[in-house]
Amino acid sequence: MKKRRIEHIFSVLLVIVAVISVTAVVVTWRLMSSSNQYPHETVDDLSAPNETTVNSSAPYETTDHSSVHTTNTTTGSSASTSLISLTTTTESRESSTSTVPPTSKPKQSSKKTTTKPPATRPKVKGAVAITFDDGPTKHTARLLDALKKYDAKVTFFLLGQNVSNNKALIQRMIDEGHEVANHSYSHPDLRKLSDAEVISQLRKTNNAISAITGKNPKLLRPPYGAFNRHVTDLAKQEGLALVLWTPSPQDWKYRDVDYVYNYILKNVKAGSTLLLHDTYRTSVDGFIKALPVLVDRGLKFVTVSELVDLKAGDVHPASWAK
Ligand code: ZN
Repeated sequence: MKKRRIEHIFSVLLVIVAVISVTAVVVTWRLMSSSNQYPHETVDDLSAPNETTVNSSAPYETTDHSSVHTTNTTTGSSASTSLISLTTTTESRESSTSTVPPTSKPKQSSKKTTTKPPATRPKVKGAVAITFDDGPTKHTARLLDALKKYDAKVTFFLLGQNVSNNKALIQRMIDEGHEVANHSYSHPDLRKLSDAEVISQLRKTNNAISAITGKNPKLLRPPYGAFNRHVTDLAKQEGLALVLWTPSPQDWKYRDVDYVYNYILKNVKAGSTLLLHDTYRTSVDGFIKALPVLVDRGLKFVTVSELVDLKAGDVHPASWAK
């Protein structure tokens, strides 16, 4: 009787140990796979429209994306879940060192040790390329006013679905010397689409833009900075070079004018390709505040195509090349 009881306790213990082991393996595997998923600061561009699914506490300021929200609700909870897990990964990584927004330059991937020659050498001395994603929005006209005042040129990576409703604004961008480029049609992770879907995202946006400007864009910023060789090849077929960034203040997360302002003053230097979003009032105002200071420092504000020579299939900055 006593022996049977001991055997029973022993078997219960065995089951507990087995459950703990399986849990440990699963947790380790998930941690490893999430840290490998985005070797660069890819989640920087967890920008509107999808961000509303993970950051419901922050007011969503733009009017232009309302149709996107509707569309995205049909993508189901799996996309939201993956975004939540990405955000959680980033936030937990940062909270382990500090709870305040980062002020230092984003970390570079350890892959940088490869001896790939820099294909994208800045052409203009003392120049910076400021880029704005996800627009146009209700903040874009104000941004254009400030840029005009200082004769500063920037690059706008537009969502194709925002183009036809903002023809006058996009024509103004072109008339005032800015570059207009492709940020996909509806902001999907291009790695998760079929070839035909990727081509559709790129081509519909190129067509919408060229219908206004008369020219096909030459540059693509993949949503979330998410791409692989396959996406690069498809972009090349469509005549597009990939443009990522360095640095980024993660303005989708830190919505504070002075934070954006201070980040820009500290991190934007000759050769920088800065990522911002004109979807956020705080990003636009932080940049407008920093603009005269950077002008005083002698920096020249040029478009990405003026900063570097890129041909279809190139990846800029070169440190992002895969
Ligand atoms: Zn974006």
